Parts: sequence; C-alpha cells; structure tokens
Amino acid sequence: MNPKIFRALRPFWPGGRTLRSRQKELEDSQWWSIDQLRTWQLERLKKVVVYAYEHVPYYHEKYKRQGIHPQDIHSTKDFESLPFLTREDIQTHLPELVTREPGYKVVAGSTGGSTGVPLHFYTEHAFSYWDPALELRGRGWYGVKEADKLAYVWGLKYDFQPIGLRARLRATLLQERFLNAFHMTDENMQLFTEMMVKWQPVMFRAYASSLSQFANYLKIHGIHNIRPKLIETTAEKISLPQREMIEQVLGCKVADWYSAREMGTIAYQCPAGGLHVCETRYLEIVANDYVVEPGQMGEVVITSLHQLGMPFIRYKIGDMAVYDGQPCSCGRGMPIIKEIIGRLHEFLVATDGHFVHGGFFSLAFRHYPEIAKYQVYQSDVRHLEIRLVLNNAAKPKWFDEIIDEVKRIFGEDMQVALNVVDHIPLTAAGKHLDVISEIEPDFI
Ligand SMILES: [Zn+2]
Repeated sequence: MNPKIFRALRPFWPGGRTLRSRQKELEDSQWWSIDQLRTWQLERLKKVVVYAYEHVPYYHEKYKRQGIHPQDIHSTKDFESLPFLTREDIQTHLPELVTREPGYKVVAGSTGGSTGVPLHFYTEHAFSYWDPALELRGRGWYGVKEADKLAYVWGLKYDFQPIGLRARLRATLLQERFLNAFHMTDENMQLFTEMMVKWQPVMFRAYASSLSQFANYLKIHGIHNIRPKLIETTAEKISLPQREMIEQVLGCKVADWYSAREMGTIAYQCPAGGLHVCETRYLEIVANDYVVEPGQMGEVVITSLHQLGMPFIRYKIGDMAVYDGQPCSCGRGMPIIKEIIGRLHEFLVATDGHFVHGGFFSLAFRHYPEIAKYQVYQSDVRHLEIRLVLNNAAKPKWFDEIIDEVKRIFGEDMQVALNVVDHIPLTAAGKHLDVISEIEPDFI
C-alpha cells in the first residue's frame, strides 16, 4: 500500500487514534528536562506498585512478607528498597504474576532473549500502542515515517522469504522484505541485494552482526546504490568497526535500538549518538543490589511504566550497562546509556560454511518449556555441543526432535551433542553466554 494512503487511513483502524495520541504525548515529553521526567516517572512508579500490590498475587505476597506497603513509597529512594524480579522468578511464578483484575486482557508471549534463559510472559493491549509509538518516534528522528519501506536482516525460523499467501500479503501491505539471518548464503545475499537495489528500502532493521555480513558482501561486490535513511540494529552490541563499515557502504546512520521482547522498546539512539532511555522505562543500574552512579557498570534493572497486566517491577533483564552522566547534545532530557555490555549473539557456522546467527537458538528454544537455560558451544565446523539445564526430565524422543531441528539449519552431517547439565558457569563478568564459538568470522 502507498505509505501516504496508509498513513491517512491509520487513524480509522482499530486503535489508530490511541496510537496517534501516544505519539503526540511522546513528541512533547522527549523535550522535558530530566527533573520534569523524574517527577512524572515517580507518579507512575507509585501507580504501578499500588496496582501490583492490589491485583497481582506475586507482588502482594512478596511485599506483605517483607513488610512493604505501597503507600510508603514517596521518593525514588523509597522505590529502590523494593525487591528485584529476576528471570528465574518469572519462570517459577508466572501464573501469580498476572493481574487478577476482572476483565483485564493479557496476551501470552515468549522469548529466548540474549541470555540463554527462555522466558514466558504476558503483555497487554496497551502495549501495542506504547511500543510502536516509541519505535516510530525513534525512527522519526531520522526522517523515517510509518509505513515506509522496511527491509529486515533478521532471524526467521523457517523460510528465506515469506512464502505463504498470508505472509506475502502481509509483507506487501506492510512494505517489508526479509533476508534470513539464519541462512546467509552467498546465493541468498545475491537475491536479496538484487531485490534491494530495485526496491530501495527507506530503512533496515537488523542484527548488527548479520548486517555487517551483508554490508561486507555489498562492499566486496562494489554495490553502493542501496541508499536507506536509517539502519536500526538490535539484539546485540554493535562494534565501532562494524558501525563504520555499515555506515560507509549504505551511506546512512546506524541507530542502536535497545529492546526486549517482554518489554518492547527500552532505549533508542538519537542522531547525535545518545542512546536515550524512553520515558516509560524507569531504568536503574545496580551493582551488589545497590543503585550506582553514572559512569559505573552494573546490572540493568527496569520497571515498565506502561505494563500492568503483568507488571515488571525492578526487573533484572540480564544485561549490564553504564549510564552516561552527561546530557546529550541533542537537548532531549531522557537519560542516556553510555554502553550496554551483553546483548551479544555470536555467529555459528553450518557444515556447508554459511553463517548462522546465534539468535537461532533463542527463537527455537523458546518453544520448549522444558529448557531452563542453554548454552551452545562450537569448536569447529563439524561439531556443536548444546548444554541444557532442564526444568524436568525429558524423553529421548524430545532430544531427537531438538537434534532434527538443529540439523535442518546446520546440515544433516553436523555432529550435534546434547548434554544435560546441572548448571552453566557464568563469565568472569557474571554474564551467562548463550553461544560460544571458537570460529572467527572474517567480516567483523
Ligand atoms: Zn540525543
């Protein structure tokens, strides 16, 4: 559909008006000073905590046991005394984390995340307004509008291109095209390149490492006539050499988009380079369970200010980060993250030599509730070891199913070893790695 027609019709679609009003709010709030922002956030934090105490059994029980009453929270300092919510807490207490308010509708979701701990969760209807509004605003900073042509270099579990009628219709209507990050063969990259030269996407959304592989392909073949306005990268940290190469080959800025499936957009990088934490995320950085000063590294703890169906209060998302103490030169008051440590998916290699993005396991394993944690280790192109911590014992057939799924992507001749372990050791920085590869790709 023509983007102009799409945008003109959008307000008349279900939820279109609500989305517009969220977008309007965000246009104003991005220019608030940090003090204005914190005042607004404190009011919302109080509301979320009161709501959780009144309607969500997990929080009610926990706060009661610890002698916490929501009315006692008057400042962010008071808020910092609340207990954390971990991914393990969610795995163990999922049903009690959902609101009991009659009529409140929630939607089930799941993620493998970048931490190797699959997670099931619930979001709500309001999520589908805030999240696109936050994302559209970020893209708008680069001149990208809703319904502009969008090309993905992204993990698709099954197909290279959308093949079903529904998938094709969706791709046409939404103006989307895909390159599967799990099947980045030369042939697929060539097809995708030809399509991109003709189609000229307005932006790319990509895993940073997959896009560098694609950009490297364009560089080697001397293709410089794909000219988007923006490249949005997510799910992993982008290195400086990757960024420079991509920006040079595709002739536009790369924006880091920090997001998580259970929350949506957390932070978005502005054209001046600041990775701004969105208003509806109260993001703390803690070390040894205490909030640290800007400049110091710690765990990322997020409270979502627009999710009540399953409230995330002081949620340890599994990343490490550092706040920047300096405001951004763009003038927006939203605090900026200097660096995120973590969010790193390494590449693995199939037996025919093509690279497979490590995110494949994140997508595949979220459909197996038996898996509590996983780690994939590749020593060479013939061997993959998958270490699993299981929630409960599984039958041999279950293991065969996983091996088949892995072989479908990595090649029938890949030697896949599935090992059930009691625990997976953390790195020296305290991070769980989901993928470890001894094979160095030459494009990073
Ligand atoms: Zn900025």
